[in-house]
Amino acid sequence: MINQTTSNDMETSSHVDPAYLCLHGHFYQPPREDPFTGQLPIEPGAAPFANFNEKITTECYRPNAEAGNFEVISYDLGPTLASWLEDTHPDVYQRIIDADHQHIARYGVGNALAQVYNHTIMPLANTRDKRTQILWGLSDFRHRYGHEAHGMWLSETAVDLECLDMLAQAGITYTVLAPWQATTAIDPSQPYIVRLFNGRSIIVFFYNAPLSGGVSFDWNTTSNADLFAANYLPGHLVESKRKAGEPQLILIATDGELYGHHKPWRDKFLTHLISVGAPDYGFEVCTLERYLQMYPPTKEVELRTPSAWSCGHGVARWDTGCECTEGDSSWKAALRQALNNLAARGDQLFEQYAGETLSDPWAARDAYLPVRNGWEPIESFWSQYGKHHGLPGDPQLAQRTMLLLEAQYYQQYSFTSCGFFFEDLDRIEPRNDIAFARRAISLIWQALGIDLQEDFVKDLQAARSWRTHLTGVDLYRQLPVVRRDLLPPLPLPQLQRTDEQENVA
Ligand SMILES: [Zn+2]
Repeated sequence: MINQTTSNDMETSSHVDPAYLCLHGHFYQPPREDPFTGQLPIEPGAAPFANFNEKITTECYRPNAEAGNFEVISYDLGPTLASWLEDTHPDVYQRIIDADHQHIARYGVGNALAQVYNHTIMPLANTRDKRTQILWGLSDFRHRYGHEAHGMWLSETAVDLECLDMLAQAGITYTVLAPWQATTAIDPSQPYIVRLFNGRSIIVFFYNAPLSGGVSFDWNTTSNADLFAANYLPGHLVESKRKAGEPQLILIATDGELYGHHKPWRDKFLTHLISVGAPDYGFEVCTLERYLQMYPPTKEVELRTPSAWSCGHGVARWDTGCECTEGDSSWKAALRQALNNLAARGDQLFEQYAGETLSDPWAARDAYLPVRNGWEPIESFWSQYGKHHGLPGDPQLAQRTMLLLEAQYYQQYSFTSCGFFFEDLDRIEPRNDIAFARRAISLIWQALGIDLQEDFVKDLQAARSWRTHLTGVDLYRQLPVVRRDLLPPLPLPQLQRTDEQENVA
């Protein structure tokens, strides 16, 4: 039976020890669309579904939404996934958005968190890109949920102090990290304050690592929700707090897709745990913002930076490579260098040429998302960011500026972290990052007739798959053919190339 105890009962009762359980799901898929056509290619690995988004919707997003799980857990829905769901399965999308509204109606605070826009590894981004990622993430959240976000999920929980400080400046009050991201041993049953610059601070929840790991990776842990509540949860309560009647929180933070996709039927485990199992064993299911409202943090903590939840080597997993992935990971450094060089050159051109029509091109980029998505009229964008507080007199100059802004948009996409997460270069995720980079190259070529492809392709030569020995250049040449005038001419392949590869290109 569902325990009917409310938080008020708990606060007024002297002998009840308030034990809360929060499940946070990070729901995210990288963009899979061909950046030239906007179409999702068929993904054979997802058969019988057309692509993985469809497969995961059937296995996870839809059943969890229809069961009402989003109304009870804490969650973030990544912008690239939200956009796809909105177009493809609007009923599922709407249930997920409404879950936050229902939580507000019930508790006065939401249970959805925003996410940095492109799932960028923030410590590896420059200051300007960090700001754009945060502001686009917040803008996307505001558009979808109709209110400001107070929490933000950082991709891979990757942090440095600069990005936390920028979150605080943007009005974000809390985020979630792994316990090993603190410099000292912490008590994960309570949130902490992290001091930032100029008197600013942010609140950090540390998830319970053994339980989150068990739910994510151990099949048996989640075989029965009642057993989970009876056998797994109580051992993670802090006994001294229990005796003193102090509140405490067990936070289980994981990829949301495990509930039904990575682990079949775990959507039903989640439903039973939050509605029956946890309450039966004395746990009140709670969300992060609601917990903060009841029990604001008092203790402070210092963080290990840079750090992330799925790499023990700072953020090397997405940078120079590390032992977290098997094989020779030196391709990661080469791919990142190629993308960084391209972005540096693209930024320079953007500042120079978009600066002819925009009073502050970087502030304009931060405000670009709602314009390009049609959420805000283009006239108000120009009146706010245009040098002459309106559309430029020369329509060609206006068009050129929009192409350069769109190139910036795809430059941000090219740093999607999934491209660096896995073990090898010759996979769909790095191919997609290279495809986004090519789209940026194309837009700059259309805007200015300047060729950034030649240097990018040269840089890609240094990135090599240890499995198939294909290089970044091979992957670039294998991208879908586009209309000839959309890209600078690609020089003929150098020696060592096979006829077969030329045919593909
Ligand atoms: Zn690592």
